[in-house]
Amino acid sequence: MQVTHLPVKNQEYNLSMSTAYFAFIDRLNDFLPRDLRNQVIQVEFRGSQSIKHLAESLGVPHPEIGQVQVNGQERTLATITQDEDRVEVSPIPNGATAEPRFLLDNHLGRLAAYLRMLGFDCLYRNDFADKELAELAQKEGRILLSRDRRLLMRKVVTLGYCLRSLDPTQQLSEVIQRFALSARIAPFHRCLRCNHPLEPVEKEAVLDRLEPLTRQYFDEFQICPACRQIYWKGSHYDQMKKLIEQRVDGASGE
Ligand SMILES: [Zn+2]
Repeated sequence: MQVTHLPVKNQEYNLSMSTAYFAFIDRLNDFLPRDLRNQVIQVEFRGSQSIKHLAESLGVPHPEIGQVQVNGQERTLATITQDEDRVEVSPIPNGATAEPRFLLDNHLGRLAAYLRMLGFDCLYRNDFADKELAELAQKEGRILLSRDRRLLMRKVVTLGYCLRSLDPTQQLSEVIQRFALSARIAPFHRCLRCNHPLEPVEKEAVLDRLEPLTRQYFDEFQICPACRQIYWKGSHYDQMKKLIEQRVDGASGE
């Protein structure tokens, strides 16, 4: 068993020391330092501390946490930890949410494009401040995707997922798996630039905007009503289809 002494704030020095025993289940161990993974962690703390606070002090962001058990009884993240408590913290199980709508932090432009390609509603800009991201996610009921666990630990964030991989295609697999998206994929229904749903458009209506070869070889077009970008099933369509198939299969097979 590893012992962790959580940092003590000045005003807490006079309070008596308590000890709790934390066990994190499955993928929550990703957030722990290597030497603390997959074992009971003895946590020393002072004062009145919620399970949420202690879990986050160990590095586990609350939006990743599902069931909490204290001494074998179901409790919540808000439960105040008592001396000698044995706390078991489980991840939210993989599964679908009613309406998977996402908000991506500023570093996830590629992932946003991939998710939009699959038809998912993704709010993304590269200039949101952390505070804005957290508040927007809350206000619009969006799932906040980020690699920054400090961002996910902000109080107002309720729906979120911390991406483990740095690689955008790997991240896509993670999101498909975590939110059980495979069955909801509707490729090429959403503008990659601005997230707006696409609409079919007559070839004649966009003829003057097409390159000669596109004009010659393609007859089906879609347009974004917001930014007027035109989409057709050109060469990158096939590449993307391949990527999507690989990612979906990869994610569902795990
Ligand atoms: Zn658009």
